[in-house]
Amino acid sequence: MKSSYHMTSAEFRAAGRQIIDWLADYYAQIEKYPVLSPVAADEVRASLPAAQPETGCPFDVFFPEIAEKILPGITHWQSPNFFAYFPANAAEPSVLGDLLSSGLAQQGMLWSTSPACTEVETHVLDWLARMLALPESLLSTSKGGGVIQDSASSASLCAILAARERATNFRSNDFGVREDLVAYASTQAHSSIEKDMKVAGIGARNLRLIDVDAKFAMRPDALENAITEDKAAGRTPFFVSTTIGTTSTLAFDPLAEIGPICRRHNLFLHVDAAMAGTAALCPEFRWIHKGLEFADSYVFDAHKWMFTNFDCSCFYVADRATLIRSLTVLPEYLRNQATESGAVFDYRDWHVPLGRRFRALKLWFVIQHYGVEGLQFHVRRHVELAQKFRSWVDADPRFELMAPAPLNLICFRLKGDDAANEQLIERLNRSGKLFVSHARLIGKFTIRFCVGSTHTELQHVEAAWRLISSEAANIIGKAGASAPSA
Ligand code: PLP
Repeated sequence: MKSSYHMTSAEFRAAGRQIIDWLADYYAQIEKYPVLSPVAADEVRASLPAAQPETGCPFDVFFPEIAEKILPGITHWQSPNFFAYFPANAAEPSVLGDLLSSGLAQQGMLWSTSPACTEVETHVLDWLARMLALPESLLSTSKGGGVIQDSASSASLCAILAARERATNFRSNDFGVREDLVAYASTQAHSSIEKDMKVAGIGARNLRLIDVDAKFAMRPDALENAITEDKAAGRTPFFVSTTIGTTSTLAFDPLAEIGPICRRHNLFLHVDAAMAGTAALCPEFRWIHKGLEFADSYVFDAHKWMFTNFDCSCFYVADRATLIRSLTVLPEYLRNQATESGAVFDYRDWHVPLGRRFRALKLWFVIQHYGVEGLQFHVRRHVELAQKFRSWVDADPRFELMAPAPLNLICFRLKGDDAANEQLIERLNRSGKLFVSHARLIGKFTIRFCVGSTHTELQHVEAAWRLISSEAANIIGKAGASAPSA
C-alpha cells in the first residue's frame, strides 16, 4: 500500500507537456488519417482490456494506447478535409482556454461559488453580442443577457420552458402542462425543437410544422394561418421557433415578417442560429439577422463555426426575469447573501443543470487571440472558399445545385437518380480523403458540403472538388470540364 496514489506535481507537469506536444503533432499530421473513422462496430472496445486495472500504471505506459487503440476509432472533426454536417471547429486558443478551465475546475452555479466564473461569462457574452451586432435588448445591460449552455438543444428547451411559463402565468411549473398549448417551427427546423417539446411536456403532437417556400424558409402566411386556425379551435399558441441557417440547406426564416406576427398574437419568438449566427461577425453577412429585434431569445453555437471547442452554446434572452422565474428553485443550502441582495446573476437559474464549469474562459481565449478582425478574416475565408466550390459545381453540367448557397454550405447532387448520388458519397467518404454528409431535399438525395474547419484552405477545397469530379466520372462515365487543376 502506498501513502498516496495521486499524481505528483512533477508527474502532472511532465505529462501535461507531453499531451500538448502530442496534440500539436496530431494537428500537424491530421491529414494523414482517414477523415471518417473506418472501424467496424465494437472494434475499439475489442482492443481494450476486458477487465479494469486493479493497480494503476504510469502515464508513460497508458498514454501510448491513445494513439494505438483510440485514434483509429476517431473521426477527425478537426481535419481541414472535414466538410460534413456543420463544423465543430476547435482552434488552438479554445483548447488552451478549456484546459485552463479544467485545471481551475470551478463550479459556477451561483455567483458566490465563483464570482469570476459568472462575471467573465456575462461580460464575454456582452462582447459577443456587440461583435454580432445583436439587438441591445439581448445584452445584460438591458433586461436581458446571455449565458453559455452545453448545446443549442438545451438552450431551445429553456426558451420553450420560459415561453410555456409566460403563456400560462407561471402555473405550468406548479400544476403541470396544459394540453392546449401549441408551438410552431418550419418543416426544416432542427430535430432538437421536437425533442425539446417532448422534454418540456408539451408533446411533439403540439408542434406544428409550417410549410417553407422555394428557398426552404418558413412561409409567414402559412404561420399566420396555422395560428388563426389553432385559436379558432380553442387552442393556445405560445411559441414560434425560427431558424437562421437550417441544418439541411442553411435557409433563413424571415424574422422581419415573422416577428410582427408573434407580437400581434403575443407569441414567444425563439431564434436558432446554431451555426450561421457566426457569420454576423462580418457586417456584410448581418442580413441574416434582419428582424432579430423581435426575438425573445436567440441561440448560436460558438462551438460550431466560431473556433471554440464543444461545448459553448451562447443563449440570449430579452427578458431574463421570465427565464429565471421559470427555472429557479431555491433550497436552503444554496441561500447566500449575494443572491438575496439581487445584485448578481446566479447562472444555475438560466438553464437545467445546477453545476456549471468555467466555459467562458475558452471563449475569452478565442476572442483575445483572434480579435474581431481575425475572426472576421477566417469566416470570410470560409465563405469565399465555399463560394468557389459553388461556382465549380454550377459550371459542371453533370451536377445541380439544390438550394441557395449564400454562405458556407453548398447542397448539390449529380443530376439523375439517388443511387448514383448515394454511390458517390459512399466512395468519397470511404476514400478517407474527405468527409461529406447528405440531406434529402424535395425528395432527392443531396450532398452537403460545408466549409468551416479551422484550417481548411483553398488546396483542401480544390482537392475535394477534384475527387468529387473524378469519382462522379467513374460513376456516370462522363468527365467534367470544370475541375481545378492540381
Ligand atoms: N439547431 C440547428 C439549426 C442545428 O443545425 C443543430 C445541430 O447541427 C442544432 C440546433 C443542435 O445543436 P447542438 O448540438 O448544439 O444541440
